[in-house]
Amino acid sequence: MKKVCEFLNCKEEGVYPAPRSREDITTYKYYCIEHIRDFNKSWNFFEGLTDEQFENEIRKSTTWDRPSWKFGTSNYNKKINDPFNFLSDKKDEKVSKKKVNYKLLSSWKLLELNPTADIEQVKKQYKSLAKKWHPDKNLKLKDSDMFVKITNAYKLIIKSFKSPSVDIS
Ligand SMILES: [Zn+2]
Repeated sequence: MKKVCEFLNCKEEGVYPAPRSREDITTYKYYCIEHIRDFNKSWNFFEGLTDEQFENEIRKSTTWDRPSWKFGTSNYNKKINDPFNFLSDKKDEKVSKKKVNYKLLSSWKLLELNPTADIEQVKKQYKSLAKKWHPDKNLKLKDSDMFVKITNAYKLIIKSFKSPSVDIS
């Protein structure tokens, strides 16, 4: 049986999944194309979060076991592109140091920071960039890719603070 769009009184087919709430993003309601657009516009994941909650959300989001930020598009639920396996701890040792260093340096560049910045500066900068590039505000696919890029960069930099084996020289 086909799903019907869950927007009040809408009779269109519900094709596009959207998370029920910020607390429960693993179950979905379904909308038609028109109403998933409304949903994307009104969904502000970070709204009303304290700094601590924000960081917890970022930590959760960077495990990538949750759906893509942009709902109802072709990249929905697609596995995050991670050619160097930076997000997989098990495969870390297989990544050559050279590649790590290059990637880490470009991550600093992407966050528009000098590698001498401390962890608090990194968090602050990421927070501001995440808000700027969050797909809620940038409905073009290109911009949502930017959000993924800065999030990956942020995660790698944070990791480099915690793991001395990833140096930036
Ligand atoms: Zn609808």
